[in-house]
Amino acid sequence: MLTHKIEEVRANVKKWKSEGLVIGVVPTMGALHAGHASLIKKAVETCDKVIVSVFVNPIQFGPSEDFDKYPRTLEADVELAEGIGADLIFAPSADEMYGEGQRLSNDTLTYVAPPFFYVNKLCGKSRVGHFDGVCTVVMKLFNITQADYGFFGQKDAQQLIILRKMVNDLNVPIELIGCPIVREESGLALSSRNKYLNEKGKEDALALNKILNNIKMCYNKGVTDISALKETAFQFLNEAHELEYLEFVDKENLEDKEKADDNTLVLIACRVDGVRLIDNILLK
Ligand code: AMP
Repeated sequence: MLTHKIEEVRANVKKWKSEGLVIGVVPTMGALHAGHASLIKKAVETCDKVIVSVFVNPIQFGPSEDFDKYPRTLEADVELAEGIGADLIFAPSADEMYGEGQRLSNDTLTYVAPPFFYVNKLCGKSRVGHFDGVCTVVMKLFNITQADYGFFGQKDAQQLIILRKMVNDLNVPIELIGCPIVREESGLALSSRNKYLNEKGKEDALALNKILNNIKMCYNKGVTDISALKETAFQFLNEAHELEYLEFVDKENLEDKEKADDNTLVLIACRVDGVRLIDNILLK
């Protein structure tokens, strides 16, 4: 069932809770693909009732980012989510989420701001305020759905680590389940933003996965020096690529690694034909 209203979600949740049912939430921005589908499937397997939210959250986009052109495919999203077994698709308007006419800034709204150490690196460096927006909307979704489990993709690894920190620091009564990255056969990580790429762009986008796989291969052969591992990336880059970062951090707490080890998460962000893509790999 599709609803646009918080009140309707709350009514369903109240009923389900009174029946002792376990509730899962899968927060998304829609334009659902097989990556989202894997989260919904895991949620359906784990929980009695599953809520999928579809909301392009304005407060997590910067002024020069793609909020307006972000793909919106609600009808297909509802069909996909219900086909997998989701019970409720929650697709609120911005007014419904933040209040009519609300000025969407942290001058006027209560924000959940993750610690500086976690946001002042990787995606947070170029996307200032992004993770405040993510944490705020996810916290709202947790409060609205009262879910027992939340399902998130490892694709957005920094996001997942920050959300775990938020849940832990604020004693939010929910368990977060991280789900593996779903890729095309070519190795390209599925993303709603892949829709912006033409055929050549998709070909060039494979560099991200190739760089990460090659780094893992070198690590498995015994290379642990991070500068040496970073060097191996350049053979995969051409004029279509604008590398934003390639970083080696601890998979639990995002601390920079001095040498690569089994707990190292390697993350990459790169613009391909102007489209910003991210990917990551765990070295173990
Ligand atoms: P988004 O709609 O991009 O905000 O993503 C919603 C959720 O789907 C997030 O938890 C993402 O990490 C997850 N997700 C997006 N792409 C993938 C993918 N290729 N594999 C697994 N999870 C994904």
